[in-house]
Amino acid sequence: MKSSFQGHEVWFLTGSQGLYGEDALNQVARQSRAVVDQLNAAGDIPVPVVWKPTLTDAQSIRKAILDANSRDEVLGVIAWMHTFSPAKMWIPGLTVLGKPLLHLNTQANVELPWATIDMDFMNLNQSAHGDREFGYALSRLGIRRETVIGHVSDPKVRARIATWVRACAGWNAAHHLNVVRFGDNMRNVAVTDGDKNEALRVFGVTVNTWGVNDLVEAVESVSESAVDDVVAEYDDAYDVAPELRAGGEKRESLRCAARQEVALRAFLEERDAEAFTDTFEDLGALRQLPGIAVQRLMADGYGFGAEGDWKTAVLVRIVKAMAEGLPGGASLMEDYTYNLVPGQELILGAHMLEVCPSLSSKKPKVEIHPLGIGDREDPVRMVFTADPGQGMVVSLADMGTRYRLTANVVDIVEPLQDLPQLPVARAVWKPRPSLDVSAECWMESGAAHHTVMTNAIGVDAFRIFAELAHTELLVIDENTTVNEFKKEVRWNKAYFQLAQGI
Ligand code: MN
Repeated sequence: MKSSFQGHEVWFLTGSQGLYGEDALNQVARQSRAVVDQLNAAGDIPVPVVWKPTLTDAQSIRKAILDANSRDEVLGVIAWMHTFSPAKMWIPGLTVLGKPLLHLNTQANVELPWATIDMDFMNLNQSAHGDREFGYALSRLGIRRETVIGHVSDPKVRARIATWVRACAGWNAAHHLNVVRFGDNMRNVAVTDGDKNEALRVFGVTVNTWGVNDLVEAVESVSESAVDDVVAEYDDAYDVAPELRAGGEKRESLRCAARQEVALRAFLEERDAEAFTDTFEDLGALRQLPGIAVQRLMADGYGFGAEGDWKTAVLVRIVKAMAEGLPGGASLMEDYTYNLVPGQELILGAHMLEVCPSLSSKKPKVEIHPLGIGDREDPVRMVFTADPGQGMVVSLADMGTRYRLTANVVDIVEPLQDLPQLPVARAVWKPRPSLDVSAECWMESGAAHHTVMTNAIGVDAFRIFAELAHTELLVIDENTTVNEFKKEVRWNKAYFQLAQGI
């Protein structure tokens, strides 16, 4: 799995002009280098910020932006109008901008030098209005951007830049994402379907299908020594049930699972794919529905969607890319069943097998149990409970004319009691603002029963991602009311219809 940050960078473009002479421009260059140095030294932005020479005319601006566009390693561009940089000269460059943009409205000094300030200082340090001029040009051109205000010594400012970089990494990962589908969607399910050409246009994601027996062939060609190695990893990393241990009566099922994992991993690597789907309705000659294999691939950063749900596979991969290096994780999740006791309203989420162990900091158990559907041998799976803490679930639905993202901020909690008979990994959560308001809004928005659940990133990264994709994002959080949410859904319908044109 490729790193979403390693080998990548963001560029720092400084705008100025020649009006105040060479000395002023030298100071601009010194100060913007110092800003970049502070951003890099703090260590909280996940890629290097690369300083570029000050831009003072339309040709050099356009050239710098075309240069950024053409480089795969550039995740996005930060722009700061140091002195007053007349924005008309930015228009030719901005019209060809193909990278995410963060507009940083900062300045070199924190405190205004009350006792010494003169007109030289004023002319040099006028980003308070230079950045307003830039904002006008961006708004006039309708350019989506993240606008961040403040001094770079402020951790809140750097945190916002870091979140934007993470959203850019998700955007970049989507544009390099190949999704391998084994089989089609589960029969008759509506929400997991979608327009794959549109997914390529909007998110940059390529989705293609392979016959499941191509995977079977790969499984059959796995060497016994490769299986030995993976089984040894299972024995070492997890709390393996006695019947699956060496000498146990179900040991062969564990080896079968490991063989699937080796084959799946190689199959995806050969096709440069970082997400995949399968379906219990089309298992070909596979001996069991992949369980632990899928869980471990997700833990390594792969996206996955069950029952052919490639849209959720895409979301899982995007969140994995955004969240690289952060504590917590991301997984396919499914709203399963409720606790409706008044005052203790909760959702129990799980899947048949495939929940990613990155949601838990505890050692997973590895167990084998029968599976009522799929008509195959009993599958091996990891069983654990997601850690308590703040989280988020996000759905991607195809509304017919466009895509819609819906996010719900949730509080993952400890189960109220043990779940000794439940043979799958799970999460228990209290959706914000409450189960009834959340679920009513969720269904009003047509959001799916499959989601990506994450406890590693918040909703801000997704807001930025949705902006980059020009895609609707409906957020359900502690401030949501049903009436306002319904209005937002209606207004958005009109807005996106108008925005996408005829
Ligand atoms: Mn499902």
